[in-house]
Amino acid sequence: MCLIAQCQRGFQYTGITYPKSFCRLRPYCPIKTANRPSVQISSLSKRSMTKIGFERFIPQIDISDKKSWFWRHGVELPEIFVPLWQLLINENLLEDVSSKGLHDFLGFNGKIFLSMVMPDELLDKLRLKDYFRLVENLGPDATMIPDNYTYVDDPLFLSWSQTVKLVSLANDFLKLDTPLIGLIKGSNPLQVDWAIRRQVEMGYVSFAMPARELLEDNLLDDLLPGAIMSLKWISKRTKTDFELLVYGVGRRLKYGGLSYSNLFWFLEAKQGHYFKGGKLYSFKDPEIRFEECTCEACRGMMPQELIDLMLCDKELGLKTLALHNLLDMNRAFNERKVNGRGL
Ligand SMILES: [Zn+2]
Repeated sequence: MCLIAQCQRGFQYTGITYPKSFCRLRPYCPIKTANRPSVQISSLSKRSMTKIGFERFIPQIDISDKKSWFWRHGVELPEIFVPLWQLLINENLLEDVSSKGLHDFLGFNGKIFLSMVMPDELLDKLRLKDYFRLVENLGPDATMIPDNYTYVDDPLFLSWSQTVKLVSLANDFLKLDTPLIGLIKGSNPLQVDWAIRRQVEMGYVSFAMPARELLEDNLLDDLLPGAIMSLKWISKRTKTDFELLVYGVGRRLKYGGLSYSNLFWFLEAKQGHYFKGGKLYSFKDPEIRFEECTCEACRGMMPQELIDLMLCDKELGLKTLALHNLLDMNRAFNERKVNGRGL
């Protein structure tokens, strides 16, 4: 039970529940008293936005590994995500990319979206002016708003204060000229719904939901349907169209109408894993090992031949496998079959 709920029921923890004047939870305290400070939410601005226009599948790339720069190897897809954290952990790379801008650095002619999903320890280092400077120097075609950290097992006041911070940064980001992607975050359906509503009030219409950890912890099915419902409900009421991208998930979920972005096509190739029909196989799985693939990358080769190729030219083999995975995933996410009803 959250500390505030316990406090309401009369449990007192010295130093952490009101009425001690130094209680950290005071702004969140539901017991109204005259001198209670309230949660500070800056008044929200508004900006008119149009949808980013997400493809069904938008590959993430590894900006520090050219093998993932698929357009250099003849595969054309119109949009990519570049994770900002990869630049933040590599000073020389950051300097180089900042001086040229993402488009020139990558030599990519499609749309480049900047992902702000990053490890907590990096989040804590960045201030608003750092974000603004980074976005201005990198020049993406759209950027996510800054990520936060909300954990279901934290006391609720922590996840609420993070959710308030997310909304406040979403408000600050309205000052940027770059097209914006809102974030769907929260440690419970109420927070997710609250964060979506505030962002919609500010004009956000395109959203990304960082989903990798939620899926791993079996929490995605608790939060994603609620997010879809919230967007549908607001869409109906305000006659606005929204789009939702699930970030960091490597297979199609049962909900329809979603877009996806991930780096698994590349990461799994490095582990010798092969996608077929959107499913992951070990390279050596007899079910797929001797089946020819007609994709642009394999051109009739079967996985066994890819293994042989890797043995004599590791680089070329890995590159071919990664491109095969990319093409397979793109096809799987674009198939018309939709099991559930989405946005
Ligand atoms: Zn193939």
